[in-house]
Amino acid sequence: KRLVSGLAKTRDNIVSGIDSIFNGFSSIDEDFYEELEEILIMGDLGIHATMKIIEDLKAKVKENHIKEPAECKQLLIDSIKEQMSIGDTAYEFENRTSVVLVIGVNGVGKTTTVGKLAGKLREEGKKVVLAAADTFRAAAGEQLTEWARRADAYMIGGQEGADPAAIVYDAVQAAKARKADVLLCDTAGRLHNKKNLMEELKKINRIIDREFPEAYRETLVVLDGTTGQNALAQAREFKEAADITGIVLTKLDGTAKGGIAVAIQSELGIPVKYIGVGEHIEDLQKFDPDEFVNALFA
Ligand code: GDP
Repeated sequence: KRLVSGLAKTRDNIVSGIDSIFNGFSSIDEDFYEELEEILIMGDLGIHATMKIIEDLKAKVKENHIKEPAECKQLLIDSIKEQMSIGDTAYEFENRTSVVLVIGVNGVGKTTTVGKLAGKLREEGKKVVLAAADTFRAAAGEQLTEWARRADAYMIGGQEGADPAAIVYDAVQAAKARKADVLLCDTAGRLHNKKNLMEELKKINRIIDREFPEAYRETLVVLDGTTGQNALAQAREFKEAADITGIVLTKLDGTAKGGIAVAIQSELGIPVKYIGVGEHIEDLQKFDPDEFVNALFA
């Protein structure tokens, strides 16, 4: 499906290498594991996840008395899945309003993600309010207005340069008054400097805490999958400024670096909740580790 085709480049990058060693080695020895390690690291799975996967595979090979490299492919797939399964995946709506703060640097796909999420939630019959709080990037408000129109969602916005915290404040009041199921807040990815950006996020968080303490909260960091290890570094920085509850990994369709999904989960312990594998609404998908790894090895 879309996931299988969206992950084509990543599959070429990782799985073709894996297949070549499963076919190329006649026994499971240290050379075999070293080669596998290199493929996983080159595939952007990260040192941390790679070491865990190899360690786990070695234990499984021993336990199952496996002798042939070809026989341990399924065990490797299982080990990768285990590295990716860290608790809950897509977020659950309870019988109260969810406030979802969407953060990330410029150009990663925040506004698009908010728009697609709004569309999906509306399809599910949810009442959605949008806060267009990226007032720093001129086009963000217009982009979101278009998504809101298409999705038939209520949107609060402001002029370019308007105070993002004030927009979130207004949007919270609107979400409460309308008894919305979900308030989705787009935020700026660039302010005058990084410290400024992180301070702004804290301010927005304080407003939501104060004005809507009973809301169910989610803070999603959007990361551009094509940036590989750089995405991981961004996630670390945002983790310091906010209580991140999940990751959205976009643009996996255009990259061979999809293995970064494994690295993020394994190294940061933050679940990937959605992935983007294209420009359409259907291309924003709830992340399921089993489906992801199956699609990778499809
Ligand atoms: P923002 O600055 O973070 O709000 O980024 P935008 O939402 O404006 O997105 C930047 C670009 O990335 C746009 O051209 C989007 O269409 C594109 N984009 C977002 N998600 C995906 C995805 O999953 N796949 C692809 N191919 N493009 C995406």
